[in-house]
Amino acid sequence: MDHRGRQQDVHIAAQVRTDQLQQLFRQSVSAVFGSYLAALMLSWLCWDRFDHATVVTWLGLLSASTLLRTLLFLRYYRSPEAERTPQRWERPYWLTLALSATIWGAGALAVMPAGDLLAQALVMLFAVGMSVSAVSCYSAYRHMTVMSILLVLLPPTFWLLFQASEVQVGMALATLVFASFVVRATHKLSDALVKAYTLTHEMESAHRISTYAAQTDELTGLKNRRAFFEHAQQLFAYCRRNQLPLCAVMLDMDHFKYINDTYGHQAGDEVLRQIGQVITRSFRAADIHGRLGGEEFAVLLPDTTLAQARDIARQVLQTIAGLQADPVLSITASLGVAEVDGAVLDLHKLINSADKALYRAKAQGRNQVVVAETA
Ligand code: GH3
Ligand code: MG
Ligand code: MG
Repeated sequence: MDHRGRQQDVHIAAQVRTDQLQQLFRQSVSAVFGSYLAALMLSWLCWDRFDHATVVTWLGLLSASTLLRTLLFLRYYRSPEAERTPQRWERPYWLTLALSATIWGAGALAVMPAGDLLAQALVMLFAVGMSVSAVSCYSAYRHMTVMSILLVLLPPTFWLLFQASEVQVGMALATLVFASFVVRATHKLSDALVKAYTLTHEMESAHRISTYAAQTDELTGLKNRRAFFEHAQQLFAYCRRNQLPLCAVMLDMDHFKYINDTYGHQAGDEVLRQIGQVITRSFRAADIHGRLGGEEFAVLLPDTTLAQARDIARQVLQTIAGLQADPVLSITASLGVAEVDGAVLDLHKLINSADKALYRAKAQGRNQVVVAETA
């Protein structure tokens, strides 16, 4: 793969990571309160079976971690879009999630009464439920999902695994089997998500490239004829609506056939490339320019008087005269300038008018700028 291809891949990977972060914040809002509510409900169901001091401590710590996560979400959504980058937000997200999952898992173990099988089963039911819902909340980040599942499930599960009763060991084993399925599902889901994001960005990029190629003249990098007229039409309408002056400059290389015949087609191409650069550098961003075909170019200058356009055209003429495209000895062009006035009602009349001036420049000996008499 070439350098540009690799750069493109790196760019797409960065976009995908940003998509993942946005998706994470979108889909996990409910998890922040969901996990807290699950602990509240479990505590309520088993209030008579749990040690009250332990439950209160657990809920207190969970309240603190829930508050922390809520503040993180508020800060994220209040931050400007440009600052919502993975570099800035992934780390704090990981930390607050790890903290809250650790409190949940360790708390579940702490509240679990040693001799009460029903209470143990209820704790495990909630812990498994939490791990399943983690998939829907953190699937944008597979490692995050797996980490939160393990932190919640492992403390109570391992405790059960080493108890004497077969029911307890069975519960622990079943939980581990469920967890392994959930982890597999997580991998598949996050893979699919990353593929979908990557594909979307690859398609956007391919579309950008093909649109650029369809509008651009390969040799000079300027707009091609079709793109020029498309943009020019819009600019013409804009200037008419806003009653702004608008000028057109037409440029045709002098004796270009001679250049080709004398120095070869490649030397001719090099001259055209250089002319493309001169045009790109000589005009403002608001001006529209393009290669209409062969060695003929056009520029539209909005909000520009005829005198200003003529001066710019003269500067272009001088710049072209100073070009060096070895072995071509002399490069010159003829330019015609016209402006919109009462008689010019459409773009093509304006271009025609500049074209007529251009041919007068040719007739008068070339290498000069001629301004249209009346448009
Ligand atoms: P004039 O001063 O009257 O404009 O004479 P000219 O020789 O420039 O005009 P003419 O229209 O007779 O010839 C234009 C030449 O431009 C003929 C064509 O082969 C050449 N040309 C058109 N497109 C390209 C191109 O992409 N590359 C090269 N190298 N030459 C081109
Ligand atoms: Mg020519
Ligand atoms: Mg020509």
